[in-house]
Amino acid sequence: MAIDGPSGAGKSTVARTLAERLGFAFLDTGAMYRAITWRFLERDCAPAECAAEPDHGHGRMRAVLADTPLALRAGRVFVGDRDVTSHLRTREVESQVSAVSALPFVRAAMRELQRRIAAVGPTVAEGRDMGSVVFPRARWKVYLDAAPSERARRRSRDFTDQGRAVGEAEVLDEILVRDRLDSTRVDAPLRQSPDALYVDTTGLTIDDVVGRLLSYVRGENDAAPSGS
Ligand code: C5P
Repeated sequence: MAIDGPSGAGKSTVARTLAERLGFAFLDTGAMYRAITWRFLERDCAPAECAAEPDHGHGRMRAVLADTPLALRAGRVFVGDRDVTSHLRTREVESQVSAVSALPFVRAAMRELQRRIAAVGPTVAEGRDMGSVVFPRARWKVYLDAAPSERARRRSRDFTDQGRAVGEAEVLDEILVRDRLDSTRVDAPLRQSPDALYVDTTGLTIDDVVGRLLSYVRGENDAAPSGS
């Protein structure tokens, strides 16, 4: 199953819960882009600068990418033997990840890894280009959306849970910047596949959304994408 949508639409929680309910693996592709962004920062290859320098900067980024053995195990993200999960949701990573994910050579490497992981067995994969590019033949495709103010509220709550107070207005600005970068990039922009089920999660609980998607998987008619 391919689940796409902008930040704060509820993709991760919904996809993880759905995967558990279906007995499928869960693939969080945003975590992969965050991990490679963290790695660039760790290796002093600041994405904002390196990404803007096609010769030297991209060369350094390619070398770091080649030296980043990324693995997902039991809901954790590893670079080699190192568990980097706790570094992925910092604001530094969050502010640079869209610049990194716009680079075609980064996307090509992530796409290949994502396909390898999903080839192992039934998977719920969530991200921005799951249904449109990485898994165009997915059995089920979903596009989750929500009003920007609600998405900002959810992300602000995530930050509070992590012990960081970030106001909703500030989060909203950051979300809108990331959405714009993610949906206007040339390679695999955030986009709803025409054959995806569109679900607006504004005002819905996780259980509501998971229930709706389980109906879709079971082929119950009112949940089918229009036109399918
Ligand atoms: O979903 P999450 O907020 O963790 O994604 C972080 C960033 O990773 C997104 O803003 C986007 O730039 C990038 N991303 C992507 N393609 C995906 C998943 C995430 O470009 N399939």
